[in-house]
Amino acid sequence: MLIENVDVLVIGAGPSGSVAASYLHKMGVSVKVVEKTKFPRIVVGESLIPRVMDHFAEADLFPSLDSMEFQKKPGARFIRGNEICIFDFSDKFSEGWDWTWQIPRADFDLAIANEMIRKGVDLEFETEVTNIEFNGTDSITTVVDKNKQDKQIHAKFLIDASGYGRVLPRLLKLDAASKLSPHSAIFSHIKDVRRPDGVEGTQISFDILETKVWLWVIPFSNGNTSVGIVGPTDFIESLSTNNSTKEALEKAITLSDFYIKRFGNLPFEFDPIKLSNYSISVQKMFGEGYVLTGNSTEFLDPVFSSGVCFATESGMLAAKLALKQINGETVDWQEKYSDHMNKGIDVFTTYIQEWYTGNLQELFFHQPENPDVKRKICSVLAGYVWDDENPFVKKHDNVIRNMAHLIKMEKESKNA
Ligand code: FAD
Repeated sequence: MLIENVDVLVIGAGPSGSVAASYLHKMGVSVKVVEKTKFPRIVVGESLIPRVMDHFAEADLFPSLDSMEFQKKPGARFIRGNEICIFDFSDKFSEGWDWTWQIPRADFDLAIANEMIRKGVDLEFETEVTNIEFNGTDSITTVVDKNKQDKQIHAKFLIDASGYGRVLPRLLKLDAASKLSPHSAIFSHIKDVRRPDGVEGTQISFDILETKVWLWVIPFSNGNTSVGIVGPTDFIESLSTNNSTKEALEKAITLSDFYIKRFGNLPFEFDPIKLSNYSISVQKMFGEGYVLTGNSTEFLDPVFSSGVCFATESGMLAAKLALKQINGETVDWQEKYSDHMNKGIDVFTTYIQEWYTGNLQELFFHQPENPDVKRKICSVLAGYVWDDENPFVKKHDNVIRNMAHLIKMEKESKNA
């Protein structure tokens, strides 16, 4: 059987694998990417946060993405009945990007792939990893290519960026239960023919229908808008009688007083996709000769759009450390990789948990707004979750709960 040789093999051409491969290629490393599907392909993860821009810039992907004129995202709006809370990324505590994009991932991921190919990255579509054998840090990966031919790839290091495919977690039985309770989502795209002019039309919004249930509205520059419903799995299941995702999403839209006029009775661009019990974790993020990145490690929840940010943060860091390792340096993967990633994951886990308890919603909608608190929370929502100067990062495990408690006491004393 034909055996190819590379220094680094990357599994998956989503944002995580692409950032890793682009960086390694830029640094002169021989790298190959194998991708199971043919792009464009539909995948969820359409609302980005500013921290990703650091990674796309460092991977030299920013100029080509910028030229695609994706919808710019300067912040995000949260809606609860008549209450509105808008975060503006230009008004945040930490230094960093003030904006990002909201994107149809099919087009976005294709644009990245085209740019990688243009630069000479060896990216093979319709090539699925079916097995991996390790011999120390070396690995032999078996793939089936688009002609249904088996072939083998020998690599000095392996980056598993296979996202929901979770190639190594499955092969090595590394899956672990998430700390978060089971939630599911259904989404599709809609031709936004009733899109209002101006900011209202393009603003990314999260409409809270119940404390644990929310609708996402992500307008794209191509005139379509992504609409998705998220909530506890039993709630999502209760939206339709016959398991019809179309009926469920139509019903969800009717529950939104804010958006029913804009999206009610409009057809979906594709049969709505359900993602059941999407939160997942992993027992370890690295081993001899490999590292897991992006959704191959941990996926939390879509509410703060942290998924692609963790995918690119981990992809970039994994690539830098892999480069050191193949250059003969000893890398402390636990400290330099897992501990770093877990630090960010812990911050977002708290924010997500406190979102669903309702405590964070108390802070978001409290009037009058506290600009200092808002600026610090905004940094977290922008993805700057490694900035220990920010008390809303450093003391994440109690600051939200404590402030929500004070707000509730204030409300009670006003009502007494
Ligand atoms: P992916 O984007 O999944 O890419 C992995 C690639 O690996 C795929 O192209 C796949 O085809 C390929 N692959 C899989 N198996 C194999 C194999 N055996 N061989 C070769 N290739 C393989 N994130 C956000 O940032 N913003 C959001 O608004 C957002 N919304 C979300 C909503 C929901 C309901 C869910 C569940 C997630 C959401 N996410 C969001 C998370 C986001 O989808 C992921 O975090 C992100 O796509 C992860 O990127 P990745 O590169 O790790 O994986």
